[in-house]
Amino acid sequence: MGLQPKNVLITGANRGLGLELVKQFLRLPSPPKTLLATCRSPENAKDLNDIAAKHSNVKVMKLDVAQHTSFENFPKLVESFIEGEGLNLLINNAGINIRHGLVEADNESMMESYTTNVIGPLLTVQALLPYIKQAAISSTDTSLNCNRAAIVNMSSILASIAENQNGGLYPYRTSKAALNMLTKNMNLDLKSEGILCFCIHPGWVQTDMGGPNAAVTKDKSIAGILDVMSKMNGETSDIFVDYNGKSLPW
Ligand code: NDP
Repeated sequence: MGLQPKNVLITGANRGLGLELVKQFLRLPSPPKTLLATCRSPENAKDLNDIAAKHSNVKVMKLDVAQHTSFENFPKLVESFIEGEGLNLLINNAGINIRHGLVEADNESMMESYTTNVIGPLLTVQALLPYIKQAAISSTDTSLNCNRAAIVNMSSILASIAENQNGGLYPYRTSKAALNMLTKNMNLDLKSEGILCFCIHPGWVQTDMGGPNAAVTKDKSIAGILDVMSKMNGETSDIFVDYNGKSLPW
């Protein structure tokens, strides 16, 4: 069976990899019934709003993952869109990369990175967990997969301690390494509830973050990620993978 989650939510969906995820989900043979595309400034999300105007299953929602007040009414609003069906797939994509080295890294850049890249995904999962559990329970499928109930965190090879040969990028590397631990913990805590959790490195991709000289196009990265999502299941303990499905060392 291919990738066909019914209800999907993506953070940071207004540009870069998040926007490309929205575009490619809509091109699947069975696109989501509801695709909740969240971003921190819907009023400025022209590309996303243009897509939503043409696809009634796309709902643009405001969510700043770094503002805990942003989560106050958010779950109720999500519930109103998914109409008691549960949320099958959450993709924690929003992230920042403040390029500070050992000398520049300061309280602000470390805290901001941790708030967005680690606490943001945690609060998003906490806010939506009742709906993800609901999706897992109401499925006739008893295996772990992205169609039934899953949480996918956008990580980076720069989070890998084993692969770190260059140093630098203190706020980004440390916050994404913490996101990896968050993912492993959630994987252990939620598998008995029928929820699959894993983290993925999208490649070095041509986005605002990756820059124009990056090795991989958005199109190729997200096509690979959707393929990985269609294949990931509870049978593997390799839950840190790249967009080609290759297992990465922690
Ligand atoms: P971009 O910088 O192009 O886009 C980042 C997205 O995250 C934007 O939509 C941005 O919204 C959003 N965002 C940032 N902070 C917040 C916040 N507080 N609340 C909600 N949304 C927020 O990055 P990419 O698309 O390249 O990256 C997407 C993910 O992939 C990130 O997690 C990144 O770390 C990861 N990644 C990317 C790689 C690459 O080479 N591009 C490599 C490895 C990992 P806004 O427009 O409002 O700023």
